[in-house]
Amino acid sequence: MSFTWDELDKMRTRDRWDVPLPPLCSHCNYNLTGLRDERCPECGTPFRWPEVRDRAARTWALAMRVQHANQDATVGVACGLVGWFAILFVRVLGLGPICVLVDVVALFVALLTVILGAQVLNIRQVPKWARAYMFKSPPSLLLGAAAMLLGLSLMVGALLL
Ligand SMILES: [Zn+2]
Repeated sequence: MSFTWDELDKMRTRDRWDVPLPPLCSHCNYNLTGLRDERCPECGTPFRWPEVRDRAARTWALAMRVQHANQDATVGVACGLVGWFAILFVRVLGLGPICVLVDVVALFVALLTVILGAQVLNIRQVPKWARAYMFKSPPSLLLGAAAMLLGLSLMVGALLL
């Protein structure tokens, strides 16, 4: 018995599944693990193993990025607080000439704060079924919103105070 490269590749993908998410039918999400016929037994949709794998790998890559959303948002909140502290500090001490410099830095920090906070919004791109496999603590929209608001207020503060 001999195989073409394409067949070998197909068998490799099927038998050595290296993505932490299960292989699922793109139509009905039926678990295709170990199936030999490239047709979903649940809904009859034909599939190709390399495509099933690519889909799972893409979803997992996205999930990995979102996984760190809470940490990102927490760092964002810290950045925003430090930024606020800095722009108030130079004003309270009356360090006039340094104010402009600090404000410019604070604007960058503010932008970073908003971006870090916005990471929690990426959860919407992860399909619902995949979320169950990824999170010990799911992304907190509240934490993200807090970082984003802090960042925006810092922008306004640096520009107007
Ligand atoms: Zn199906």
